[in-house]
Amino acid sequence: MTNQIPIAEGLFTWPAAKPALLGSRCRNCGIVSFPVSSTCMACSSQDMEIEELPGRGTLWTWTIQQFMPKSPYRSDETPETFRPYGVGYVELPGGVRVEGRLTENDPNKLQIGMEMDVVFEPYRTEENGDEIINFFFRPVR
Ligand SMILES: [Zn+2]
Repeated sequence: MTNQIPIAEGLFTWPAAKPALLGSRCRNCGIVSFPVSSTCMACSSQDMEIEELPGRGTLWTWTIQQFMPKSPYRSDETPETFRPYGVGYVELPGGVRVEGRLTENDPNKLQIGMEMDVVFEPYRTEENGDEIINFFFRPVR
């Protein structure tokens, strides 16, 4: 069986029957931030609690990454096999905006304000066969 390993610790619940992104809610002012932070960016309070973020939001802005990012970008790709991908911010209920890759890279299929689901998929495969899991935003069909 293939090991599936999250791309970063504490970014989302994993393994989980229904994985979710993790954010921090400030107990002082109520602002939710992503990724998890120990200090509130709005009021500097350190009274924070971790909570699961909603799995569906709306596309706030987006672009298509047309060339391979510089290091520390790590994937299975080489400059020869690189394929452009969408990247954007999705606003989740409660107002937190999360930057992430999109599953769609066709500009004609992306529109600000459209509904997007958070999905968790293999991002790259390590030499030992482990799959590295990342989150992506997928247009709701
Ligand atoms: Zn706060």
